[in-house]
Amino acid sequence: MIEFKNVDKYYGKYHALTDINLQVQQGEVVVVIGPSGSGKSTLIRTINGLEEIESGQLIVNGMDLADKKADLNELRKNVGMVFQHFNLYANKTVIENIMLAPRLVLKRDEAENKKIALRLLDTVGLAEKADAYPKQLSGGQKQRVAIARSLAMKPKVLLFDEPTSALDPEMIDDVLNVMKSIAKQGDMTLVVVTHEMGFAREVADRVIFFDQGQVVEDDPAEEFFKQP
Ligand code: ADP
Ligand code: ADP
Repeated sequence: MIEFKNVDKYYGKYHALTDINLQVQQGEVVVVIGPSGSGKSTLIRTINGLEEIESGQLIVNGMDLADKKADLNELRKNVGMVFQHFNLYANKTVIENIMLAPRLVLKRDEAENKKIALRLLDTVGLAEKADAYPKQLSGGQKQRVAIARSLAMKPKVLLFDEPTSALDPEMIDDVLNVMKSIAKQGDMTLVVVTHEMGFAREVADRVIFFDQGQVVEDDPAEEFFKQP
């Protein structure tokens, strides 16, 4: 599903990713941890083409992202991303935020689109907020809308870049609970950059420890959490 082979990435002269070799299978839940500035965000941003790689091969859902001609719009139909800072459209209602991409990109039928959006809002516990604007929501609510928006595309892969780091502590659990229920459904491939070890312990299949642009450890979760 996702395969890095000898991948390197530079920002100018700065070597952000060094010789990454990594495979993620369909349906796996992989948690990426490591110090701030170690390249975790860069790593997952390469998976949906937000960052280009300089060398090596990166195959995502059958597409080689080392190829400069790779169709990133096509890729992103299957690879969703949830950001630290939500990135909702401020001038659109919650339900419009969720319906926009399926309408424009997938040409989903309007009635069907609305039905799916309402069901997803219910799933993330925000059915009553369909017509609210993002500024009327708390950070935790915004992030749950952002997750619903990603799910509306029915992606095969969903990437999370520190989704709870910008939230007040009392809102973190609501977001983690939504993420856990997605993880437990088991059909979607999840790659999650987070410091939330409870989340990792509960739902991760694998834990990758990242440092200075390199994979330092890549262990099955049960092994990772056994270590002293
Ligand atoms: P992490 O997610 O582990 O905190 P990042 O992937 O965000 O790490 O960043 C890794 C390193 O690359 C940091 O030193 C950061 O300053 C640098 N970096 C990230 N994005 C850019 C960029 N667009 N241009 C230059 N340097 C960057
Ligand atoms: P976050 O932790 O929310 O990703 P960062 O401060 O790491 O926030 O990065 C915010 C944005 O700035 C990202 O788009 C990242 O690529 C870019 N960035 C980070 N470090 C650098 C840097 N040293 N030079 C240029 N851009 C950077």
